Amino acid sequence: MNLCIKSKNILTPDGLKEALIIIENGLIKDIVNHAENSELPVEDFGELLIMPALTDTHVHINEPGREDWEGFETATKAAAAGGITTLVDMPLNSSPVTIDIDSLNMKIHSAENKLFVDCGFYGGVIPGNSDMLSGMIDSGVLGLKAFMTDSGIDEFPFVNESDLRIALKKIEGNNIPLLVHAEIDCGFIKEKNYSEFSYSSFLKSRPSEWELKAIDILIRLSREFDQHIHIVHLSSAESVNKISEAKSEGLKITVETCPHYLFFSSDEIKDKQTLYKCAPPIRNDHNREKLWEALKDGVIDFIVSDHSPCHPDLKCIEEGSFEKAWGGISSLQLGLPAVWTECRKRGISIQTVSKLMSNNTAEFIGQGDKKGKIKIGYNADIVAFDPDRKFKVTEEMLFHKHKKTPYLNRELFGTVETVFMNGNKIYENGKILTEPNGKIILNGN
Ligand SMILES: [Zn+2]
Repeated sequence: MNLCIKSKNILTPDGLKEALIIIENGLIKDIVNHAENSELPVEDFGELLIMPALTDTHVHINEPGREDWEGFETATKAAAAGGITTLVDMPLNSSPVTIDIDSLNMKIHSAENKLFVDCGFYGGVIPGNSDMLSGMIDSGVLGLKAFMTDSGIDEFPFVNESDLRIALKKIEGNNIPLLVHAEIDCGFIKEKNYSEFSYSSFLKSRPSEWELKAIDILIRLSREFDQHIHIVHLSSAESVNKISEAKSEGLKITVETCPHYLFFSSDEIKDKQTLYKCAPPIRNDHNREKLWEALKDGVIDFIVSDHSPCHPDLKCIEEGSFEKAWGGISSLQLGLPAVWTECRKRGISIQTVSKLMSNNTAEFIGQGDKKGKIKIGYNADIVAFDPDRKFKVTEEMLFHKHKKTPYLNRELFGTVETVFMNGNKIYENGKILTEPNGKIILNGN
């Protein structure tokens, strides 16, 4: 697509500018003075903020096999509506789980003609599949993913340290990370008034120590192997100092956190509100502020959704049992406004948000030279965002397969008005405008 995008507020690596972006063949060809003329059609966005589209590297799309939870079509439409043009799908909770070449190929096949945005894949590490890892790496997975505690999916058991060691050997020379769910079950002391319906009981059943213990091991392995280890969805801020020290030591450790740990606090979650159940859990307000500090200090590298929906029946909404409810929060479409709403309260700029949700995430999957910036030569993946417009989250506006999410009825700041992918307008004002033109992203291309 060839066109120009004009605005008084274009977020470039050199800051906010009034400019004209010239797009040719899906790429940003030039960024020129706004007063210049062009032969190409011009979309004038006035004062709206024009920012790079987001990359979300932690999404559970659940297809094939659990399409009744989510699917490629609904997830990628929700992504487009949320200003995201690149997703990476986790190796679970699809069925089969992605743990060898056959299941990876099944996943790639089932994504065909359903992707409204670009999508890559991770390969799973489970006990006993070490012979399958190189095959998945050669087939282009963007990383390997392992659990150090129960994943909730029987076919995706957690690994021990020796499995992690094998995986770290396998990624050597391939320039991809080993992503780890960093919690180790160290048990917990059941409080006297424990109740399966109480959020406070649930929270105490997954204490910070679980994360601390796992992260200690990962830091040690990182020192030993000098390979890229990535800690997914950090919830407890108690590990921040250790991670910061590990990074100063030069270890290749990166860390993500998620909108729900930054937006919600356990202090406001009432009993039986199982929509808030996820693992690791949402912790208290003090912890949330510490996570924000770690983001500001650059100890946490980026923010991704960990969109992990399920069929609403499995959330046990009526019954309200935290023991029985599926753990996972549905949020893909809402990440940007949720994070931005909290940033406004803390005086954090939209530049920082863009760094945490576009630049650093694109970089993480090796796409940092073509995605995540409004810069000459980059893909024209661009969002027109109104940072001052407020909206209330309703079921009707969500493209997720199921509409249950703890963000329902919340007031958020920041609306995604228009989204371009490769210069094509794919979303505007609540509507998806194109056919599924998303591509599959494989490592190395
Ligand atoms: Zn996840």
